Formats: sequence, structure tokens, C-alpha cells
Amino acid sequence: MRSRAPRVAVIGAGLSGLAAAAHLRATGVDVTVFEASGSPGGLVRTETVSGHRFDTGATVLTMPSLLVDVLGALGVGGDEAHGRLALAPVDPGYVMNYADGSSLSIPHDAAQIPAAVASVFGAQAGDGVADLLRWLRRVYDAEFDTFIDRNYDGLADLTDARTRQAAARLVGLRTLGGLGGAVARHVTDERLQRAFTFQALYAGVPPHRARAIYAIIADMDIGRGVSAPEGGMGRVGQVLADALVDSGVDIVYRTPITSIRRNAHGRVTAVATDDDVVEVDAVVATLERDGVARLTGERPRRRLRYSPSALVVHGVLPDATTSTWRSGHHTVDFGSAWSQTFAEITARRGRLMSDGSFLVTRSAVSDPSTFVTDGLESVSVLAPAPNLQSAGLDWDRIAGPYTDEVLGTLASRGYTGIDGMHVLRVDHPKTWARAGLPAGTPFSVAHTASQTGPLRTANVWPTSENLVLAGSATVPGVGIPPVLVSGGLAAVRVADLLRGPGGGR
Ligand SMILES: Cc1cc2nc3c(=O)[nH]c(=O)nc-3n(C[C@H](O)[C@H](O)[C@H](O)COP(=O)(O)OP(=O)(O)OC[C@H]3O[C@@H](n4cnc5c(N)ncnc54)[C@H](O)[C@@H]3O)c2cc1C
Repeated sequence: MRSRAPRVAVIGAGLSGLAAAAHLRATGVDVTVFEASGSPGGLVRTETVSGHRFDTGATVLTMPSLLVDVLGALGVGGDEAHGRLALAPVDPGYVMNYADGSSLSIPHDAAQIPAAVASVFGAQAGDGVADLLRWLRRVYDAEFDTFIDRNYDGLADLTDARTRQAAARLVGLRTLGGLGGAVARHVTDERLQRAFTFQALYAGVPPHRARAIYAIIADMDIGRGVSAPEGGMGRVGQVLADALVDSGVDIVYRTPITSIRRNAHGRVTAVATDDDVVEVDAVVATLERDGVARLTGERPRRRLRYSPSALVVHGVLPDATTSTWRSGHHTVDFGSAWSQTFAEITARRGRLMSDGSFLVTRSAVSDPSTFVTDGLESVSVLAPAPNLQSAGLDWDRIAGPYTDEVLGTLASRGYTGIDGMHVLRVDHPKTWARAGLPAGTPFSVAHTASQTGPLRTANVWPTSENLVLAGSATVPGVGIPPVLVSGGLAAVRVADLLRGPGGGR
């Protein structure tokens, strides 16, 4: 028998795949990452469109400590990791603009948030927010290690002492009720309630219907601050990929996996590309569940419910124009409507927002040298929209007129000149569908009660113990922090498997 390191294929060089590869490499495994596109990062990327740079995927980077952990697994120390990622605090982390004309800038440093709130909403509101931030941190502490950064194997794990203790803490924190009610216990002003509940939408759940356990997301972004890498979000994937290559991991680009081969017992034996078959001991797949099923040749039975999608407009404007706006790197512009807005985009029969709330991104606020070219600033506007599962809208026809409507609405709300933006690219549900994302959403499977935690698609493929999932479709879920965690969880699964009886060769 030939003695060699076990060989693992990771499918996808998005952040989950890169994280999985790093943690696996740290265990001495021989890892190859196969990526269909020409660069790392997946949905976290910075692209050049007609000579201008845009963050065309994720824009809000939270919990950078998870990135430092991934680099740490590859032997890159904390200071060196911070140097490579070149992160700057985004301050204010968010600007929140409200329909009544009021505006709140949320400082990066949580200690300064109560004073900032007090200056706009009064001293009592400032005290309420200070309480709220403490409660959010307690929710995070009770939830993260036990319910998020952990592999579950069955009922025993759900009832062990550690889980019971954490669950009791969450009950004590009253997180089993609604998110809106929990936040309202601390802040009475509806505008502040919006500021601390809109994040539920990141998990694909309307804030008014979310459980209070989703408050953890507000701790991750407002509570811990938002960061921006120099050069744009695309730097993150590139830094991880470079460190992987330095540590001996092969990343092969423009090489989609076309099938996952298994033996008669369901055990994965190889992955195939267009012109090669590579024998492996295990696979980490970071695709959506239906994408993995296509590769194994199976047809999944359970129908999944997907998060809402978005229309994302990228364009340029003179920086003299954008400087007149009341805005920051990340500006949430709220319409008057609230629960109605989310009902519209998340309903089983969804429709466009009638009084929209939008995310306006000006990456140039943090990094003008990357995002201003010849006096023209890159600006992106994200308008949440129903996915193709809930509304069969003809996006190829309506994307243009809807873009005009969104920009017109923003112009009327004080973003003077934005309706004259030179639009260079519009992504919409059909764009994401063409990229292979189910239901035309890049936000994956919604975190509804029946698709969260132990009920979410598990990270071990049901018919193949050595096919492990990472990424937004599996546990713990959608967004940069969860997918980085998912990579670590997948690596633990594979390492256990390779160590166990029958592991390796
Ligand atoms: C517009 C937008 C805004 C967002 N905003 C935020 C935000 O502000 N903050 C936040 O935290 N998150 C945000 N997200 C979500 C976040 O980007 C994703 O949840 C996360 O990046 C998903 O990572 P992943 O590794 O699971 O998947 P992906 O990034 O999708 O990576 C999967 C990779 O697999 C590759 N692949 C697919 N099929 C194959 C195959 N057959 N063979 C080989 N390779 C294959 C793909 O090319 C891709 O590179 C946003 C996403 C979008 C699109």
C-alpha cells in the first residue's frame, strides 16, 4: 500500500472553500481547490467595469477575526494577517437615513454609539441603546460557540449539558420571542428599532417575523464594527488564496467540477473536470444543495425556501455630486413603510417594494484611490427584491425601468444627481439565476425556522459520508462570517473522517 497524505478536493474558491482548504491544510491533508471562474473570493469580489472598480458582491465586512483565524491556520500570525488584509475601520459603520428626514451615523466603536444616538434621539434613547448593545453581546456569547460554530451529529448533541446551559441562557435573554419585541424592550423609537432589526434580512427573514436569536447579526455588525479592506472586498479572497498557495495548496482556476464520482456504497472516489478525473479521499463542496446534487446525479426531495434577492445597480458619478449626500460607506435609506416592505419581498407571492428601503454603497468613502477614477466615483445601490421562486418577474424587461425608479426615488430623498448616474452594470435575479444560483438569489436558503440550525441542510451529504458541504447553503448559514465558520466545520468533519476507521487509504 502506498503511504501518502489523504487527498481532498474542495469545490469552489469562495470564502467557505478557501476557509475549508486552510483548516484542512493545517491538518496535513493534500488539498486541491477547483474553481470554475478565473479568480478567488466567489461572491466577495471587486471587479473592473468599464475602467471603474466596484465591490460587486458583499460589501459589509464584519468579524474580520474569522479571517485572521483562517490565516492563522496557515501559520500566518495575527500582525502579519492584519497587514495582508489591510483592513480599515469603516467609521461610521452605517449611516441610517429615515423618511422623516432624520439621520443617524453609527460609529465604528460601539462605546461611542449611545452618545451618537443620544445626540439625535435624546438621552433616554442613548441609554436604551447602551442596554441594547449589552443584551446583543450576551445573545452573541450564549449563541456563537454552542449553536453556530459547532457540528451537530444528532439528538445527543442537542441535549448535552453544554447545549442545555446555552439554551437556558438564551431563554433567560428572551430570545425565543420575536426580534422586534426584544429590541423594542430597549428602544421605543421605531427608527432605532429599524436600525437594529433590519439585519434579519441578511438571513432572508423579514425583521417583523424573525425570532430574537437573529439579534446576533446586529451584534456582529453594529456591535463589533464594520471593516473595509484596502483595494476593495476582492482583496479578502486574494489574500486567503495567496496564503493557501504559499502553504502548498493547489488552486486551479477555470476548472469547473462536472461530476462527483462515487462507488456502489455511495463513497466518493473521484471528482471529474472536463478533461480529467482526480481520485480523492473526500470532497468539500461549497455549491448550493441542488448544485451538489447535480454533480452526484441525485434529485433532492425536500423543497427549499430561498431568501429574497436584489437588484444591484453599479454606476459612476462626479465625486463633487456624491459629496453633497448625507451618506457614508454604507448608507441604509429607509422608506416610510416597514413590515409591508419586507412582506412584499419575502411573501410566497412576492412583488417589488412599493416604498423601498435601499443600501447605498460608496466604497470610495473608505478607499478613494481605488474607487474614484478621473473624478468619477463608483456607487452601488442595492434594492432588495423578491426571488424568482416567489415572483416570476420578467427581469430582463423590467430591470432598466426599475433601476430608473429606484434612482429617481433616491434622488427625491436627497441623493441629488443620483438619477443622472452613469449606470455601468445592473445585476438582478435573472443574472444570479444565470450564474447557477437557485431561485435567482445570491443569499441562498432562507433562515426560516425549518431551515436553520439542526434543521438546515446538514454539512454531511446524506448518501455519502465523505462528501461534506460548506458555504451559505449549509450550517451555519449565509454571509461572510457564517461561511468562514462553515469552512472550519467542514474541515473538522473531513479530518475526523480521515482519522477514523476506513479514513484515508
Ligand atoms: C450583492 C451581494 C451582497 C452581499 N452582501 C453581503 C454583505 O454585505 N455582507 C456579508 O457578510 N455577505 C454578503 N453577501 C453574501 C456573501 O457574499 C455570501 O454569503 C458568501 O460570500 C458566500 O460564500 P460561499 O463560499 O458560500 O459561496 P460563493 O462565494 O458563491 O463561492 C462558491 C464558489 O464556487 C464556484 N463554483 C460553483 N460551481 C462550481 C463547480 N462546479 N466547480 C468549481 N467551482 C464552482 C463559484 O464560482 C464560486 O467561486 C452578499 C452577496 C451578494 C451577491
